[in-house]
Parts: sequence; structure tokens; C-alpha cells
Amino acid sequence: MAGNFYSVRCGDCENEQVVFGKASTEVACAVCGTTLARPTGGKAEIEHEIVETVESR
Ligand SMILES: [Zn+2]
Repeated sequence: MAGNFYSVRCGDCENEQVVFGKASTEVACAVCGTTLARPTGGKAEIEHEIVETVESR
């Protein structure tokens, strides 16, 4: 698996943002700065609602 992207809805401000499923750094919401995903040594842990999974091509 090459790694997917996820469309994640921020639980604080409802901004939707695309997050790489294997993000190696914390991903913050572009609008309010809440942490959307944190790295766990491989697969990122998504802390908010995943709206859509986007297959990488
Ligand atoms: Zn937000």
C-alpha cells in the first residue's frame, strides 16, 4: 500500500482538509490550528472525523 490521503473534518471548526495517511509530522488544521493527525511511527493517527478516503495513484 502506497499510503492514502484522508479528507478530515476538523471537530473544532469543521474545516475539511486533506491529510496524508503516513504523515511524519503533526498535521494542524489550517484554520484553527487544532492537531488533526499525529505520527505514530508509520501510520498517522487521525484524531478527527474522516470524511473520505482518497486513494493515492
Ligand atoms: Zn479547525
